[in-house]
Amino acid sequence: MSDAPQDKINLTINGQPVTADKGMTVLEAAQAAQIYIPTLCADPDLEPYGGCRLCVVEIEGMRGLPTACTTPASDGMVVHTETPAVNEVRTTVTELLIADHPVECLTCPQNQRCELQKVAAYLGITEQPLRRTNRLFPVDNSNPFFELDRDKCILCARCTRTCSEITCVGAIELAYRGYEAKVATFGDQPLMDSICKSCGECVTHCPVGALAPKHAKPPTHEVATTCPYCGVGCGMYLGIRDGHIVSVTGDRDNPASQGRLCVKGRYGINEFVHHPKRLTTPLIKRNGEFAEASWDEGLDLVSERLANYKGDEIAVISSAKCTNEENYVIQKLARTVLGTNNLDHCARL
Ligand code: SF4
Ligand code: SF4
Ligand code: SF4
Repeated sequence: MSDAPQDKINLTINGQPVTADKGMTVLEAAQAAQIYIPTLCADPDLEPYGGCRLCVVEIEGMRGLPTACTTPASDGMVVHTETPAVNEVRTTVTELLIADHPVECLTCPQNQRCELQKVAAYLGITEQPLRRTNRLFPVDNSNPFFELDRDKCILCARCTRTCSEITCVGAIELAYRGYEAKVATFGDQPLMDSICKSCGECVTHCPVGALAPKHAKPPTHEVATTCPYCGVGCGMYLGIRDGHIVSVTGDRDNPASQGRLCVKGRYGINEFVHHPKRLTTPLIKRNGEFAEASWDEGLDLVSERLANYKGDEIAVISSAKCTNEENYVIQKLARTVLGTNNLDHCARL
C-alpha cells in the first residue's frame, strides 16, 4: 500500500508516478496526468461504455488488454499505454473504422474537430489502409436543424447514450447487426417522426460528422450570454461571423444548464435575431394597416387605452422572455396600477 491520502491512490503509467482520485478509471487517471490515450466512445458526461476498444492498455498482473475507460484505477497499479500489442490493436481498430468511413474530410462539417481524424493522426495513419466497405445508408434529413449521415457513423453510441442518460428521451438506439448496424429510432422511422425533441444534445456529443447541424458555420469569435427564451437561464456562447450569429454552444460552466440547451436555445436564436420580418419598432394600426411608430407614440397609446379598464375587466400575461425584474414590475403594474389580480405567466401554459 502507498502512503497516499485516503481519497487518493498512487499508480504508475508508462513509468510515470501518477496520483489519482479514488474511484477514477485508468483512463481518467491518465487524463488527469496529461497522458493521452486514444478514445472515441468515451465521454466525460456519459457512463463508461468500452465499445470502441481504442483505449486498451496493458496492466501488469492483469490478463489481456483491458479497456482503460472501464477499468477502475487502483493503488499500486502499473499501466502501459504504448506497447506494441496495444498499438497493434488500436491501429487495426482505427483502420477498420476508416475502411467503413467516407474520406470526404474537406467538405465534412466536423473537419479539424473530428476525433477520428485526431486518432488517425496520432497513430500515423495517412491513407485508407483496407478495402472500402460498401455500407451505404440514406441521410436522415428529416430534422430541420441537424442531419444524421449514417455513412459517417462509427457506432460509438455516444448519441444514443446521450439521449438516454442526459436528455432522458430515449429516441435513438443502435439497431441491427454487422454491416446493417446503425443508429435508429423506434420502428426505424425518420427522426422527425420519432419522439426526438430536436434538442441537439446528441449532435454535440458525436465525435465525427455523422450528426451535424444543418446551417452552422464556424464562428470567428464567440460571445457569452444567457438564453432569452425561458426562466431556466441556460448559459450559451453565440458564435459570430461577419456580424451574424452562426452557431450556439452551451456554456459548461453555467450552474443552471452545465452546457445543455433545449431546441429553442440551441436552434432558435440565429434565425429569429436576423429574420427580415422581425419587429424592431412599435406598430400602430391606422386605417386598417399597421404603421411604424416611435416608442413614445406606442407607449402613450397603450397607457391611454389601458386607463379605460380596471379590476376584472383586464388580465395581464407576462413572459418567460422577460427578466425576473421585468416580471416583477409587470405584476406590480397589474396589481397596484391596473387593480387586477388576473395575472399569469406563459411558463404555465
Ligand atoms: S436531438 Fe435530443 S431528443 Fe433528439 S435524438 Fe438527439 S438527444 Fe435525443
Ligand atoms: S451518430 Fe455519431 S455519436 Fe452516434 S453512434 Fe454514430 S458516430 Fe457515434
Ligand atoms: S435553452 Fe431552453 S431551457 Fe435553456 S433557457 Fe433557453 S429555452 Fe430555457
